[in-house]
Amino acid sequence: METTDKKDIRALNRNELREFFLAQGQDAFRGNQVYEWLWKRSAHNFDEMTNISKETRTMLAAHFVINHIEVDQMQRSADGTIKNAVRLHDGLVVESVLIPTEKRTTACVSSQVGCSLDCKFCATARLKRMRNLHPGEIYDQVVAIDRQSRLYYNRPLSNIVFMGMGEPLMNYNNVLTAIEKICAPEGLGMSPRRITVSTSGVPKMIRKMADEMVKFKLAVSLHSAVEKTRTSIMPFNASFGLQELRDALLYWYQKTGSRITYEYVVWEGINDKPEDAAALVAFCRFAPSKVNLIEYNPIDGGEAFRQASDQAIGMYVETLEKSGITVTVRRSRGKDIDAACGQLANKS
Ligand code: SF4
Repeated sequence: METTDKKDIRALNRNELREFFLAQGQDAFRGNQVYEWLWKRSAHNFDEMTNISKETRTMLAAHFVINHIEVDQMQRSADGTIKNAVRLHDGLVVESVLIPTEKRTTACVSSQVGCSLDCKFCATARLKRMRNLHPGEIYDQVVAIDRQSRLYYNRPLSNIVFMGMGEPLMNYNNVLTAIEKICAPEGLGMSPRRITVSTSGVPKMIRKMADEMVKFKLAVSLHSAVEKTRTSIMPFNASFGLQELRDALLYWYQKTGSRITYEYVVWEGINDKPEDAAALVAFCRFAPSKVNLIEYNPIDGGEAFRQASDQAIGMYVETLEKSGITVTVRRSRGKDIDAACGQLANKS
């Protein structure tokens, strides 16, 4: 663990780096070179910057640190999923997951250490929110998974989902800065259309994203379109309820024209009745959307939350399809290593 008061050099943007070099009496162009080492080439150490003189590297090390992550532990599932326990510079740990399918490799990344929300079915909710991740810490998770994808699957990472630990919209600025760097040519050069930010539904921030005309995709963990039920499983719903969420999503669609994906788990005795499916259809109708029905992975023996029967899932699929709403049933990945949705909680 690093203990230093020096500033993380990756908190500086390109212009600030150029200005730093100017203030040191050096060519501003050095700032571009260092910026490229930090982001495009993911340097962890100033000594890696071989086109920078030794003297300048020493000067940089006297002013700054590079706070990078370390993959502390990597677990591979029988289905090919890889879960990483990622150690941050201050010793805290988050998790990220590589999910390979026939055509894609997806990185599921964390945005906070723990979570400030309290979804009853989620393992991460049991860890109190300790801090937000910095843009570089989010970026580094993507870099680490891209390397694993190349190493184990002979192909680069194709997609990113913000579905790991934390609520990304509660760390809005850092998540957006990380995405900017991931998409920039001097970063990883990924298309924003391959990135999905998944939120439990924070209306104010959804509106803000819409105003900023972001290009990535939006997914909402809905899990119930019945107010009382949603509040019982996602208590923050009491503060900003379904109507407010719906208004914000409509605003998103009107501004961006981008279809909304709803993530939805069907639990036995909670939301497995025809009236629950009917409420979901009614909620989906106001804007083009699709529904992912996700398999649930019980936490702590699953006394309170149990995956609904195949019959109930079938009822949902039929109800949605009849109403012309696209629905996909997603089998969970990485269950044997607790890497599936809702299971990330630093157990490793
Ligand atoms: S489901 Fe997401 S928003 Fe809810 S507690 Fe878990 S990490 Fe936080």
